[in-house]
Amino acid sequence: AAEEGFDIEDVEGAIEAAGHGPLPVLAVVGRPNVGKSTLVNRIIGRREAVVEDKPGVTRDRVTYEAEWAGRRFKVVDTGGWEQDVLGIDASVAAQAEYAIEAADAVVFVVDAKVGATDTDEAVVRLLRKAGKPVVLAANKVDGPSGEADAAYLWSLGLGEPHPVSALHGRGTGDMLDAVLEVLPDAPEQSFGTAVGGPRRIALIGRPNVGKSSLLNKVAGEERVVVNELAGTTRDPVDELIELGGVTWKFVDTAGIRKRVHLQQGADYYASLRTAAAVEKAEVAVILIDASENISVQDQRIITMAVEAGRAMVIAYNKWDTLDEERRYYLEREIETELAQVAWAPRVNVSARTGRHMEKLVPAIETALAGWETRVPTGRLNAFLGELVSAHPHPVRGGKQPRILFGTQAGTKPPRFVLFASGFIEAGYRRFIERRLREEFSFEGTPIHISVRVRE
Ligand code: GDP
Ligand code: GDP
Repeated sequence: AAEEGFDIEDVEGAIEAAGHGPLPVLAVVGRPNVGKSTLVNRIIGRREAVVEDKPGVTRDRVTYEAEWAGRRFKVVDTGGWEQDVLGIDASVAAQAEYAIEAADAVVFVVDAKVGATDTDEAVVRLLRKAGKPVVLAANKVDGPSGEADAAYLWSLGLGEPHPVSALHGRGTGDMLDAVLEVLPDAPEQSFGTAVGGPRRIALIGRPNVGKSSLLNKVAGEERVVVNELAGTTRDPVDELIELGGVTWKFVDTAGIRKRVHLQQGADYYASLRTAAAVEKAEVAVILIDASENISVQDQRIITMAVEAGRAMVIAYNKWDTLDEERRYYLEREIETELAQVAWAPRVNVSARTGRHMEKLVPAIETALAGWETRVPTGRLNAFLGELVSAHPHPVRGGKQPRILFGTQAGTKPPRFVLFASGFIEAGYRRFIERRLREEFSFEGTPIHISVRVRE
């Protein structure tokens, strides 16, 4: 590195920054209007705008990346939730439950000006049951005079209330320091086979694509493993299913089986549930209804899994209904609409007839293998050296930026850091990604490439 003009500490820093695996998850929960979204905006530093809440507006983004004091984590925002037919208590509880389940730590936001309400008490009971670390944020303490209001919240029995003003940023730094004290470095659920028990699958897709049918099919034909494995099934919404001689954990199956009828906010609720399931899983099996056109909603779900950095398999369901013509158009649609995930293994299934069910497990295994691939530095650099001399970066302004060397900083998904002598254009980055995929077959996994430029 030194010969190439890079400071060794820069190189190590870049590798460390890029090398993280799945990030720990912080959920922000609380009643409507206590300031959850405002606080999330504050935490993520407004790098990504949280869509303004309007009744009935679909919020499909609920997870954001954040960084505080040099540590990175994900934030799940549960704002944007409208009261529905279940009534306020039940809806707050339902959204909080999903978020808490997927979280490694929770910020519970209470409006200090209002004080603790019955709904707040209900959420406290949920938090107790879940046993996750909780930081209590007493929000809307915009100045010193509000501190007394915050102190009343000791009564919730969650420890010290942290007085904050999400709106003005007052106290949020101290609160985040408290969060980092309780947030683990990596997701609580270990990712990997060695100690983590069964691999975790999220079966996701928009309503009516056939998730529950598929689950019933695989669980019905194969032996359903009763929840006996010690320590693996504390979670009643997950289900252990034996497939192809291996036990898998399907996460959040209760949400799939139990059809919750909601009116307002149903889309948001579905998004939150999908996001939570993806966070808990190692691999996402995305179900698409092959009998219908690929929709924006399908795309959003795919994007969610890609952005979460999970291994991915795409299953085209209802294959039994397809005629020649539909099959032809589907192939064209996949080529044009899903080109960005052409790397995902694909299976054409029918939950109704059981068609190609046996192909699901090999596809999942392929995706997980890609997700965990580690390319030795020597091999990577031999490959990069050949690539760069055969296909140099275009000359720009009389200069020709070069990739000097690279390393794989992490897995799950694979993350690379390339060190370059000048700015590397997006087109060339894509070219490198394509060639990396060809060479090392990262089937079924997103890969991340970051480029460091020599000063
Ligand atoms: P959510 O429903 O819990 O996500 O709440 P929002 O973040 O949408 O906030 C609800 C309302 O409270 C908005 O009008 C915010 O501007 C306001 N709000 C949020 N945080 C603060 C705060 O720290 N101080 C004051 N005075 N108002 C706040
Ligand atoms: P979910 O909302 O994603 O859980 O979807 P469901 O499993 O409830 O399925 C929605 C509808 O599609 C039901 O009427 C199912 O019978 C039907 N369905 C599911 N899978 C298939 C399939 O492979 N072929 C056909 N023809 N219909 C299916």
